[in-house]
Amino acid sequence: MLKNLPSTTQALIAWTWPEIEPYYKDLESRSLTAANADEWLADWTRLDEMLDEMYSRLSVATSVNTADKEAEERLNKYLDTIFPSAMAAEQKLKEKLLASGLEPKGFEIPLRNMRAEADLFREANLPLLAEQQKFNLEYDKILGVQTVEWEGKEVTLTQLKTTFQEPDRARREKAWRLITERQLADRKAINDLWQKYMALRLKIAANADKPGFREYAWQQKLRFDYTSEDCKSFHRAIEEVVVPAARRIYERRRQALNLDSLRPWDLVDGWFSRPTEPPRLPALKPFQNIDELKGKTLAIFHNVDAQLGKYFDTMLAEGLTDLENRKNKAPGAFCTSFTSIRKPFIFVNAVGIHDDVQTTLHESGHAFHIFETARIRYIQQLSVPMEFAEVASMGMELLAAPYLTEFYTEADAARARIEHLERGILFWPFMAVVDAFQHWVYENPQDGSNPDQCDVKWGELWDRFIPGVDWTGLEEAKVTGWQRKLHIHQYPFYYVEYGLAQLGAVQVWDNALKDQVGAVTAYRKALSLGGMVTLPELFAAAGARFAFDAATLKKAVDLMEKVIGELEVKI
Ligand SMILES: [Zn+2]
Repeated sequence: MLKNLPSTTQALIAWTWPEIEPYYKDLESRSLTAANADEWLADWTRLDEMLDEMYSRLSVATSVNTADKEAEERLNKYLDTIFPSAMAAEQKLKEKLLASGLEPKGFEIPLRNMRAEADLFREANLPLLAEQQKFNLEYDKILGVQTVEWEGKEVTLTQLKTTFQEPDRARREKAWRLITERQLADRKAINDLWQKYMALRLKIAANADKPGFREYAWQQKLRFDYTSEDCKSFHRAIEEVVVPAARRIYERRRQALNLDSLRPWDLVDGWFSRPTEPPRLPALKPFQNIDELKGKTLAIFHNVDAQLGKYFDTMLAEGLTDLENRKNKAPGAFCTSFTSIRKPFIFVNAVGIHDDVQTTLHESGHAFHIFETARIRYIQQLSVPMEFAEVASMGMELLAAPYLTEFYTEADAARARIEHLERGILFWPFMAVVDAFQHWVYENPQDGSNPDQCDVKWGELWDRFIPGVDWTGLEEAKVTGWQRKLHIHQYPFYYVEYGLAQLGAVQVWDNALKDQVGAVTAYRKALSLGGMVTLPELFAAAGARFAFDAATLKKAVDLMEKVIGELEVKI
């Protein structure tokens, strides 16, 4: 048993490395045998829980008030003085456990992951990985200074993209061309950086004795349950069954907008996503204030499942949410864990639009995952792969969808749900482009390092997967799309997870349409397994298949299209 750990949040956030280090030293020096493994692991867990929560508390403090200088200092101090030392101390404990040869029950997956990480670790890669971080900053910097002059004012490209939601088509086109021209001005800078990224990644892979960077990334992402061939099957399945459905969505919208063809500036993101709403429809207004958002979200969860409703009750009662946008709040949304008390915290920037509802439902799905795993004994068993973690959140968005009438009239709820489902369908082909591109890049590192070849490949993939939008005369913008997809540069291979998770989420929802109680029970059961079983087992527990094939995908897309059809008559 560890003694004298901080007993209040105040004490926890003031913890220092000289106070923490002895606990690690103690764990490191104890003998580790089958007889005391449970106690040793439980103590390690307790220590990690505290540190994990310390980081969460400190980072939440800076997110909820970006002007809080003291909070910022505390977080920086943690990152500078505690984090690196704790990581090194952690590594020693992992090595100690691996060296012991013990295989505690329920530890098969965490041990498998630790072995893979140890196997991939190379001292020589540490400076290269740091270099990669610097390239990421460089990439951010190139994009971060992209502004244009619009109606006499300097605006960021993100700000100007809101124009794509407006009814005036000529204005949309003008904004789109201005944005594109600015992006293309950085074409050379991004090409140069890309070549540096590629050379570095090939070196990292070689240092780790991997035949290529894809093999390195696979192990680094702990992808044991699927192969690159599975991803390619998934791409083919998307081409076969999702691309035609996406075409139908584009076509329906083209007709509704009364256009000869859909051009990129007729899409809300100017790229691949949903076409702009016809001008006759006013924006959805789900709530007037945050209490209304909280109350109605709570009512939705109680409709989905009594226990999930209770979890959200707890979050509201214990201040485990911060939902409203205000001055001095960090952007974005997230769910984090206060691991020592095994409770979640969700952070949203709600301003009164439908996206806020969707985001709150999504982050709550992650929060429920934390509640459901509260009884798992060891912290190493809590880490859930992204491919399933997003089933919890995306699944919750779909399970909650029938109850959006808490916020809206039938007609408006139908509109919101159609938008959500269409977005889901249109995402898959885009995801396939991003993923297939990266497989090609790292399978053909020489061509993949050549930006001109990258353009050719991206253009080919774009025509294959996103044929419903007319890019005639805009070829230069089309083929350079890979330059603007941040993940390709900063988080290689990280993207297919969302596509796989969405397929799981739709299956959970499909089950719920037939038997809500049964489906939600299975969903909660799967969440409660944390990271103790494989991905196929997690999906199976949730009543879904971890799948890459056209048949499973077709069933999902057919359902989505059928429900869109049913909802359309309600508008
Ligand atoms: Zn998420």
